[in-house]
Amino acid sequence: MGSDSVSTSTKPPQGDPSASLLSLNAGSLSDPSNPHQKNTANSVIFTSLILVTCIALAAASAFSFLFFSFSSVPRTDSSSASLQTTSRSLTKLNHPVVLLISSDGFRFGYQFKTHTPNIHRLIVNGTEAETGLIPVFPTLTFPNHYSIVTGLYPAHHGIINNYFDDPKTGEVFTMASHEPKWWLGEPLWETVANHGLKAATYFWPGSEVHKGSWTCPPGFCKFYNGSVPFDERVDTVLSYFDLPASEIPVFMTLYFEDPDHQGHNVGPDGPEITEAVAGIDRMIGKLIDGLEKRGVFEDVTIIMVGDHGMVGTCDKRLIFLDDLAPWIDIPADWVQSYTPLLAIRPPPGFAPSDVVAKMNEGLRSGKVQNGKNLKVYLKEKLPSRLHYAASARIPPIIGMLDEGFKVEQKRTEGQECGGAHGYDNALFSMRTIFIGHGPRFARGQKVPSFENVQIYNLVTSILNIQGAPNNGSVSFPSTVLLPNPHKF
Ligand SMILES: [Zn+2]
Repeated sequence: MGSDSVSTSTKPPQGDPSASLLSLNAGSLSDPSNPHQKNTANSVIFTSLILVTCIALAAASAFSFLFFSFSSVPRTDSSSASLQTTSRSLTKLNHPVVLLISSDGFRFGYQFKTHTPNIHRLIVNGTEAETGLIPVFPTLTFPNHYSIVTGLYPAHHGIINNYFDDPKTGEVFTMASHEPKWWLGEPLWETVANHGLKAATYFWPGSEVHKGSWTCPPGFCKFYNGSVPFDERVDTVLSYFDLPASEIPVFMTLYFEDPDHQGHNVGPDGPEITEAVAGIDRMIGKLIDGLEKRGVFEDVTIIMVGDHGMVGTCDKRLIFLDDLAPWIDIPADWVQSYTPLLAIRPPPGFAPSDVVAKMNEGLRSGKVQNGKNLKVYLKEKLPSRLHYAASARIPPIIGMLDEGFKVEQKRTEGQECGGAHGYDNALFSMRTIFIGHGPRFARGQKVPSFENVQIYNLVTSILNIQGAPNNGSVSFPSTVLLPNPHKF
């Protein structure tokens, strides 16, 4: 998945059907090829044809009017999509502002589950990854959120799982660890602060960590608290736009736990997901309303993403490590995580390559339930497209599960249906959304899917600041953004 191969494809604007009818009939009317115009009968026929044409034209115009009137998605200046060659200038703000929104576990396609007029307003008037945003491997929440804001693969930004051990110190990272030593790379809020600009984070993994010039300033850096109502989060972000122009943060994050929360409980197809998606759409609507009331909606760049998708894990698609006992014992204390990312660190004295060989022998024997759906690798032997080897924090043995399968240590009574993510990022079910709306995004533009490590460079390009080195392509922003001839 070479990032340099990414290119844009601008979708032609949806033309006004009455416009094409007009041009067709104008051609007929100016046709001088009728040599019998003096013939009265022919004149009557000709006049009748004109009348019929006019009636048809009026009907077509009326239908097109009704069609667009019934559409609840306002299209602003959409007919000029193909004419846009440069970014739109700011009208009220004196500096570009990027608002990065994450809807956790928003699988690509959820936007079609129900009526989502506000999300579609951003899509129709902005730029969308047409077949979704590709997460990094493992397709888990913390590694992906931190890749989005650093442009780095997990092996390079250090958050290689939602929880893991440091093999050197034995210390344990959890999602509540805020010591800077865990969080490598330079997240966007730090880059912004390093340039003397203001950032504000309303929840994002890593945002509470003091790094470089970023001090997690009170009032602009919220400590994670999942019980804060979504409305309150949106209201707070909107309140930043009531500050004097020079004090408005130029980069803001906004995070919603939904619909991931529901996806784990019921899988991607439960009615709870539909409700959660509608709820997120309402929050986007509230945000748009608030920005419009302040006269800054068209000035603000909104980038809406998710961190990963979701897949159903029903049907008892389980693999039990204890079933491998005839080949090798895998005690629970060797296992750093089970599912969907199986990560094993054997103690000294056990060669990882021997463990891998014996596990795979058992899994391929045909005697282990669902054994063929798990393949175990030395991390260095994982497909290179996963970028999941170059860190001592990554345990030496990684198991790749087929979509929807899970690993457990031993058989238990309760086997439940639900949803999971963390699988190979090549799976379509793990994809999420990317929507960009703002002065640098062409309206109605569709771009091919890309990996979320590209987003860091997109944001620094929009903010006109120099970013830190990262795994994104330097040329990527120019393939997605409109060129910027304005000072800002
Ligand atoms: Zn997540």
